Amino acid sequence: MAIQHDRDFDPAYGECTRLSPSIRRVVAKNPNPFTFTGTGVYLIGSGEVAVIDPGPTLPEHLDAIEAALDTGETIGSILVTHTHTDHTAGVADLVARTGATTYGFGPHGDVPDEHPMENISFDEYFTDDEKAEFKKQWDETPEELRREGPDVDFVPDERVEHGDVISVAGVDVSVVHTPGHTSNHVCFGLDHEGTLFTGDHVMAWATSVISPPDGDLVDYLASLEVLLERDDQRYWPTHGPAVRDPAGYVGSFIEHRRSREAQIVEGLRPGPTTIKDLVPSMYAEVDKRLWRAAANSVYSHLLALLREERATVVDGGEPSVVATWALV
Ligand SMILES: [Zn+2]
Repeated sequence: MAIQHDRDFDPAYGECTRLSPSIRRVVAKNPNPFTFTGTGVYLIGSGEVAVIDPGPTLPEHLDAIEAALDTGETIGSILVTHTHTDHTAGVADLVARTGATTYGFGPHGDVPDEHPMENISFDEYFTDDEKAEFKKQWDETPEELRREGPDVDFVPDERVEHGDVISVAGVDVSVVHTPGHTSNHVCFGLDHEGTLFTGDHVMAWATSVISPPDGDLVDYLASLEVLLERDDQRYWPTHGPAVRDPAGYVGSFIEHRRSREAQIVEGLRPGPTTIKDLVPSMYAEVDKRLWRAAANSVYSHLLALLREERATVVDGGEPSVVATWALV
């Protein structure tokens, strides 16, 4: 069963869209291969409004969030799904503007000195024209958007746990802990509307990146199962359009991860090989700029296979994104 992605999304940056009586959205202008069309920021409730994931720290974007308030409204709380900069870089500035209380599962997990993604490159697959185009895009990227990745600075005022219900802005928001994309990822539910804000856990436009060591595939799959225990009618992810068939869609994600694992096992069957050799054929249909991230997803599968004693590192070496792997 192939995943039916939905990439039909064309946001008007900075404008407030009302999605239901208790949900508004403002999309930040930080599109890139990871954020799709940018970070969708949700405003929940009325009065002392709650903001889910303020997004980047672009001043005009934070202005747009405040402009989305009705007369007399304030921002009373900021709910954080997880600590990646495209979600949290703007938290400190928005708190400085509003005095809002922040909620989140906790700070980011341990970040190794050298991220595994730094150690692998697919440069030889890019043409000179593509390299020149990417350099141009980078040169045109605002300074605020250049540091993307884990945000180790964010510490929530209030720590939330799975099963908590936060009463904010006249609505009850339930907390669903969904580790996998990051260890501190949570989704927020408006249970009375059958709506779940899924952050980067489940998105309509693409699968999520699982990047060890903080990202964990086994946790991720368990966190998909957690969503299947709920009865949501609709997901609002941070990036892209809504998911309108949650149960069917999550089922196809679980199926997809199983088929990726089968592809890896098939790729190892002829003999020992590397992630660098597996990725180009496995991800042929994916934007090559995402291949380094894809390499980390393959790595997370191999770590799971290693734990299950189905795969091993050749010559007893340390597991890594550049190791040579073999079936047991
Ligand atoms: Zn994101």
